[in-house]
Amino acid sequence: MEKVVIIGSGPAGWTAALYTARAQLAPLVLTGQQPGGLLTTTSIVENFPGFPEGVDGYELMTRMQKQAERFGAKTSFGVVESVDFSQRPFTLVVDGEKVAAETVIIATGASHKPLGVHGEHELETKGVTYCATCDGALPAFRHQPLVVVGGGDSACEEAQYLTRFGSIVYLVHRRDSLRASKIMAERTLANPKIKPIWDSAITEILDVQKDTVTGVKLKHLKTGVESLLPVAGVFIAIGHVPNTELFRGIITLDENGFVVPEPGTMTNVPGVFVAGDCADHIYRQAVTAAGAGCAAAIDAERFLAAASR
Ligand code: NAP
Repeated sequence: MEKVVIIGSGPAGWTAALYTARAQLAPLVLTGQQPGGLLTTTSIVENFPGFPEGVDGYELMTRMQKQAERFGAKTSFGVVESVDFSQRPFTLVVDGEKVAAETVIIATGASHKPLGVHGEHELETKGVTYCATCDGALPAFRHQPLVVVGGGDSACEEAQYLTRFGSIVYLVHRRDSLRASKIMAERTLANPKIKPIWDSAITEILDVQKDTVTGVKLKHLKTGVESLLPVAGVFIAIGHVPNTELFRGIITLDENGFVVPEPGTMTNVPGVFVAGDCADHIYRQAVTAAGAGCAAAIDAERFLAAASR
């Protein structure tokens, strides 16, 4: 029987593991299909406190893992297939094996929604990115034309942020108006360095043969006219998908699938806690996820202490 099982191994999961390990609870971390989470797909993380020169995303996650393991966290490269939270101890089926847990911390993160065009996957981290805050300041993007895809608050925020670095920021949206909140949309459209390209879709990201982004192919959705737009970076901001399907019907989710936390990091099931991007559609930063992981660990520890009294 595990005292604490942590589902997910991003900054939220490893921080929850570090704190519960130091509380002598020997947490079991189930890494999921992408050990280290989304951050491992980023090149340099320059906004995680304590790394003035920046740190490779993969290295940061490896360091977090080592730190948690040093205090007794156990790692299993397992994928959770199903959960039964109807009674305690909870039961998780992990790669066909049953795991019993007194408490569970859900830290399954979110996946970026992909565009699904040729060149996107091939050029990821070579000019294609899903996070302006993480990658916008990289030398390859400085004083270069950049393109953001999307029409929501994320796309507006990314475009505005990128105007600090790029020579011009194109905002490609499939409609003729933004979905973003009014204030964000107005601010974005008023920025002289942002040039919207309406009613358009990116149909291909170039140039896979050169192994770096040199531009995008565009299609005007009303006229069908195709064109080429030279850019050094493609920032995809068409939304995130929280990795919460496993908990549908068991844990309270909002209309977009994000876990709805009760006060603190509790969920609707006592003993099941949540941390990180699977419950956060606003901040979505490594450091806020790590902070939430810490909070969930403290909540789980207190829950166990109260249950044993
Ligand atoms: P979002 O509001 O769902 O917007 C996604 C945008 O991407 C939409 O404009 C959508 O187009 C477009 N899109 C979706 N799939 C596409 C595809 N396959 N190809 C091209 N375009 C596609 O997502 P978000 O901007 O990430 O925001 C998510 C939530 O977080 C929202 O509630 C938002 O308000 C919040 N948020 C808030 C802030 C802030 O307040 N500072 C910042 C970021 C996010 P359509 O418009 O045609 O559907």
